[in-house]
Order: sequence, then C-alpha cells, then structure tokens
Amino acid sequence: MIEEDYKRVWAECLEIIKDTLGPENRKVYDTWFVPIVPLQLEGSTLTVQVPSHFFYQWIEEHYLDLIRRVIRMQLGPNGMLKYSIVMDQSIPSNPVTTTLPSNNISRRAIQNPFIDMPMSLKKDDVNPVVMAGIQKVRVPSQLNPNYTLENFVEGECNRLARTAGCVVSEKPGTTSFNPLFLHSNVGLGKTHLVNAIGLNTKEMHPDKNVLYITSGQFMQQYASAGRDNAVNEFIRYYEQIDVLIVDDIQFWAGKAQKTQEAFFHIFNHLHQRNCQIIITSDKAPGELQGLESRLISRLKWGLSAEIQAPDVETRMAILRQKLQNDGIEMGDDVIEYIAYNINANVRELEGALISLIAQSSLNRKQITLELTKQMIDKYVQSSSREITIDYIQKVVCDTLDLPVDTIQQTSRKREIVQARQLSMYFAKKITKSSLAVIGMQCGNKDHATVLHACKTIENLRQTDRFIRGLVEDLEKKFAQV
Ligand code: ADP
Ligand code: MG
Repeated sequence: MIEEDYKRVWAECLEIIKDTLGPENRKVYDTWFVPIVPLQLEGSTLTVQVPSHFFYQWIEEHYLDLIRRVIRMQLGPNGMLKYSIVMDQSIPSNPVTTTLPSNNISRRAIQNPFIDMPMSLKKDDVNPVVMAGIQKVRVPSQLNPNYTLENFVEGECNRLARTAGCVVSEKPGTTSFNPLFLHSNVGLGKTHLVNAIGLNTKEMHPDKNVLYITSGQFMQQYASAGRDNAVNEFIRYYEQIDVLIVDDIQFWAGKAQKTQEAFFHIFNHLHQRNCQIIITSDKAPGELQGLESRLISRLKWGLSAEIQAPDVETRMAILRQKLQNDGIEMGDDVIEYIAYNINANVRELEGALISLIAQSSLNRKQITLELTKQMIDKYVQSSSREITIDYIQKVVCDTLDLPVDTIQQTSRKREIVQARQLSMYFAKKITKSSLAVIGMQCGNKDHATVLHACKTIENLRQTDRFIRGLVEDLEKKFAQV
C-alpha cells in the first residue's frame, strides 16, 4: 500500500462505523469518530490523531470492539491502530484554551507521541484452567492502570469507601473490612475505586496475587470450566488469589446458581486464609434479591460502604482533575457551568466534558461559556434536564453578588436571609423536592421555614419593587434553562 492510502483507509473505516452505528447513533458518530484524523499507514498499522487522552480513553472503553473489527476488515488480521494524542498548549490562554488538532500538527505539538495500543493484548483473558496446571502462578491482575487512587477525587460522597479501600490495601485480609463491599448507582466510581485499591495493594505488597474480575467474566470462565470438566482446576486457581476483586456481582442475581455456589466455596476458602475479598454491586447486600442467602450473609460479614452521587464541589474537583490529567485548561465559568448542570453521575459528567472538548476541536473553536451552554444544553436535553437546588442557589447568589456558600450560613443579615428565601421559593416552584429536602439543602432549615419563606417572597412581590424586579429577573434566567 502506498502511504497516502491512510486517508482512504480511514475514510472507509468511517463509512463502516457510520453504517454500523446507524442513524440513531449519529450523535455518537459525530462526537467520537468524526474528530479522529488519520496520520499515516505503516504496514498494517494505521496511526490516527485524537484530540486528547481523555478522548482516547473514552473511545477505547466504549468502542474498542467496533474499532477492532473495522480495522481488521480493512487491514487484515494483523491490523493495528495507534493513537497520537495532541496536547498543544501553545494557544494563548485567555479566557480558555484547549487542544486543537490540525492536519499539519508540528512535532512539538505532540506531547505524548504515540500510545501503542496493541489491540490483541488489551483485553487478554486469563484462562484459569490452563493457569491452574502451573505451580504457584503469578496471576495477571487485569487491573486497569488508569484507575489510580491519585486520580480518584475524594469527596463526602465516597469518603468511607475510599478510606476503607486505603486500609484494605495496606493490610489486605487482616482487618475487619473483609469482605469490603462497595455499592452505588452506576457511574459513581465503583470500578475505578476497586481498581485503585488493587493497584495500591500490589504496590505495597508486590508478592501478593491480586486479581480483578467482572462477575460476567467469572461466570463465563466457570461455564467453560464446566464444559471442559475442569471445575476443580477453576476453583483451585481462584484459591491461590490473595486479593480477589469481583465487580458488579448483582449480575448473578436470579441466575448463575452454580457460579454462586462455586464462588461461595472460593469465598470461604479465601476468608479462612485471611485473603482479602472486594465486591461491588449496584445494591446493598441486603437488597440483592435472587442471590443465595448464605452468600448474602457472607457478604455482610465485613464492611459495606455506599458511594453516593457527588455534590457540586466534588463534581468541580473531578472536572478539574480530568482536565489537568489531559493537559487542557478551561475557565472557571465553564467548569462551574458543567458541574452545576450535570449532576446525575460522574460518567455523564465526563461524557459532557469530552463532548465539549471534541466539539471545540472539531470546529476549531475555543471553549467559551457560550459554546459550553449550547453544548451542555443539547447534551442535557437528551438525558432529561432538571434544575437542581444547587443550581438555583448559585443563580440567586450570582444575581445578588454573594458567594454561594452564604446560603449555608446561619447569618441573619437581611441580604443573606433574602438569598436563602429566594432559593427556597424557586426550589419549591421549580424542583420536585419536598419542603424538608429544600430546607435541609438551604442552610439546614425545617419545612416550616421553607413555607414561611415562600409566603414572604409572594408578599414582597406585591409590595416591594426591588424584590418584584429580582424575582422576575430570576424567573427569566430559570426559564432559559
Ligand atoms: P461504576 O463502576 O460505579 O459504574 P466507574 O468506576 O466506571 O463507575 O466510574 C465512571 C467514570 O467516572 C470513570 O471514568 C471514573 O474514572 C470516573 N469517576 C468516578 N468517580 C470518580 C472520582 N471520585 N474521581 C475521579 N473520577 C471518577
Ligand atoms: Mg462499574
């Protein structure tokens, strides 16, 4: 193949990807594939340029199989994809800078020239049955090296889980946190945190066998061991693990009877030998219906910690951390806007950030608040937007030129009391939250205070021109959302 073929090859890949994703996923295609720029073709290795490390991780995580298939279709069974990640910091940085990929990037612009991604190695599965034949195995831990403790932002929402994780990695198996059971809704960091605990354990105890496995992989391995008459080897293999991490155990509920039984044996064996077991699930142990009751009772032996949705400060810290990792700068106004408007979970927060970066690189535009608003508004529309109490407080305080934390103060100063009352008033009008919840979030007040605040604002609206103007102004702002 001549070198210029890289453009054609990638164009053909894009055609297939577009086709496979179908019209209903046009947005995915536009966001994640259009910004990729082909750079060169050497043998059967195609190098493409992506806007950021973040972007690379995202497509890796979500579209690896698709890309792998397409590359092999185009370049044969040895087809490989290499990513070149652009981190161009030479753009003047007022108010915001980001990385803009271009077709004529200079060498200097590539900070992290090539990340080799030998796709065939990436998702290598261990085969426990083969491994068990060997004496004292060193188990490939299957940990994701990107999910470290350093880049797992700590907040009120995850403090218990994170702290327990640190204790466990220091003294695996010998504390009362065994098993360590972490649960939360999706996208709140369970997989990240257990990987980080695994990595940390390996660092502190290099001699220990640490293994991360998803409940699905475990189930498949067990099924194939059953087909090959190798269940004993399967169990023996797992009994050699010192720190066993099983992710998303809820998938066994209501099925996988035999898998649960095998795991029960392994659990008992490991626990007796003071080996550490770490489990994640989307529910607390007691709510895991469809799991064997003796297994549930084991799961309750240690510590069960819930990871909650992050508050707005933590959301901002997470965004800052991701940007820093990625070598991208963004204005505080942009970060705040995203953090205040995306509150479902961290995965969505990341998704919004990446779409924004992708959009800006695609259109060669700087990331301004304007662009962010357009993008986030579109993004949020598709995942049902809700104005939160946090957001209301922020808008009220911005309008009155007060720092947002004044709402939480006990101060009786008039402007602060008014800011609090206005927040309560709009929270009652706009959100579906109960009076108790509104009160709690607006300075830890009770529901009667919220009712009183609403009446006060209604009255002042009739009698006080300043307040009337203010309320109308705020109404307009919230209507635009
Ligand atoms: P879960 O397993 O609970 O569904 P994940 O661990 O997959 O969630 O997290 C979703 C994404 O959010 C991941 O990319 C992860 O790195 C990120 N994330 C979650 N919590 C944090 C945090 N506290 N700090 C930094 N990143 C986080
Ligand atoms: Mg997970």
